[in-house]
Amino acid sequence: RQAAFRTDLSVLLDQVGTGKESLSFMKRRIRRLAQQWATAANRLDSKLEQRWRDQKKILVHVGFLTEESGDVFSPKVLKGGPLGEMVQWADILTALHVLGHNLKISMSVKELQGFLGVPPGRGSCPLTGPLPFDLIYTDYHGLQQMKQHMGLSLKKHKCHIRVIDTFGTEPAYNHEEYATLHGYRTNWGYWNLNARQYMTMFPHTPDNSFMGFVSEELNETEKRSIQQNKVNNMAVVYGKEASMWKQGKEGFLQILHQYMEVHGTVYYETQRPPEVPAFVKNHGLLPQHELQQLLRKAKLFIGFGFPYEGPAPLEAIANGCIFLQPKFHPPHSSLNHEFFRGKPTSREVSSQHPYAEQYIGKPHVMTVDYNNSLEFDSAIREIMRTKVEPYLPYEYTCEGMLERVHAYIQHQDFCTPERPLFVPLPNSTALVWASNVTAPVAWPPLSSLRLLVSQESQSCVEACQSAGFICDLKRPTDVVDSEINHILPAFSVMRRECGLQRDPLLFSCAGHSPKYRRLCPCRDLRQGQVALCRDCL
Ligand code: UDP
Repeated sequence: RQAAFRTDLSVLLDQVGTGKESLSFMKRRIRRLAQQWATAANRLDSKLEQRWRDQKKILVHVGFLTEESGDVFSPKVLKGGPLGEMVQWADILTALHVLGHNLKISMSVKELQGFLGVPPGRGSCPLTGPLPFDLIYTDYHGLQQMKQHMGLSLKKHKCHIRVIDTFGTEPAYNHEEYATLHGYRTNWGYWNLNARQYMTMFPHTPDNSFMGFVSEELNETEKRSIQQNKVNNMAVVYGKEASMWKQGKEGFLQILHQYMEVHGTVYYETQRPPEVPAFVKNHGLLPQHELQQLLRKAKLFIGFGFPYEGPAPLEAIANGCIFLQPKFHPPHSSLNHEFFRGKPTSREVSSQHPYAEQYIGKPHVMTVDYNNSLEFDSAIREIMRTKVEPYLPYEYTCEGMLERVHAYIQHQDFCTPERPLFVPLPNSTALVWASNVTAPVAWPPLSSLRLLVSQESQSCVEACQSAGFICDLKRPTDVVDSEINHILPAFSVMRRECGLQRDPLLFSCAGHSPKYRRLCPCRDLRQGQVALCRDCL
């Protein structure tokens, strides 16, 4: 069946259910953004010019909100707990609904069993018939629950699964045997999925797919009125929980206070949290739309280093604030920071919000060393002098998210084995472009791809980026005898020879080593939509 865009969200709102603060938060968000989604749907509809879109049967199982996983999030919604995940799930549900797919939503193991047709209460009774869904969106908690309740059949059906994974999973952690042998084993990894089945909150690594979320887009009239009403000496602090204000913040808060009126949205029960200095005007945790209003007046949104990589800085920038954040020397990662420990990635986080730093940058984002009070002081003065317009990258608009999710749903296929881009010539070490030998059914299309060789120590992420491309997790070369290593395919500098990747699951854009120059499959990208190549729609 053909999928038709939907602009009425009432069926979706009914499906989300009631009875928990997390669900109410998500529903308020869905309602608030309904008009933006409808406009975006109409725009994408005309952009796609009547193109056929398959209507998919989709199950969304939100594992972290199930009672069976302990649901620690729901009770904290009104108390300063993390909301980023709920923002993202609300937006994923809306995007799937608006794109016109046949959607089922499950927030408990019982509902999961019901939708999958697994008899309840019989432990890991395997699903015997065909999978009643084309796609299942879930998270690591949900994956674990499906393993328990689908038993062996999960293996058979896993190419249909998409895992919403905020910070991302690198191939070396995902590959069970490799992770176990080489010290990459964590609580979360080792599911042996195609790394692009993990979908992240920001485009952290091209090894995974970038799912994202949306932020409110302003029209020209709103933009103008915001610019007129900006209060030049008003700062809002990023941090809704008192613990985010703890230790070592007094120094730069004092400097900030010399120039600006400091506002906060820190949750409190009866009295001001002791961590928040008396000169801070604390509004308490605000509903999302009231936070937006506060951001519309403020000139500066200032991060203290935590939370990492959340939605709020994008909202602030979209409302015309400048985001000031600390640079991390050395970068934070699972190797040196408690928060990331045990997460299936060794990605280095260079500041509180690397996306804001690297994809947005000046004048909207300033990333400075907070330990250097001169640098901090001059940043504040520069911010007060600088005029900025509200800015939202296309990929975080409703239309951008719909476009991306549409492209993934219609084109990503992890059930058919991927063909290599290059194959070895018989009896030779030379490689030939696979399009000459195999049918070009690839997505992204071969025309968008370029093969590059990295410098020593450079990853494919960096090599592609420095040439204006992005690494794409294509399997660049076919099997030739070589060691097993997530740096391959690569050229060994010492041995002066190429090693090719034997295991498609181990191909990693992120891998790098001083002993190798990597062979990198890069692709072109759309302006403002890094997840898609130019001909990828
Ligand atoms: N937020 C809110 N009220 C507040 C502060 C934040 O509703 O007083 C919302 C904000 O709009 C954002 C969400 O909380 O969409 C998540 O924010 P954050 O970046 O802090 O990420 P988290 O750590 O909660 O995932």
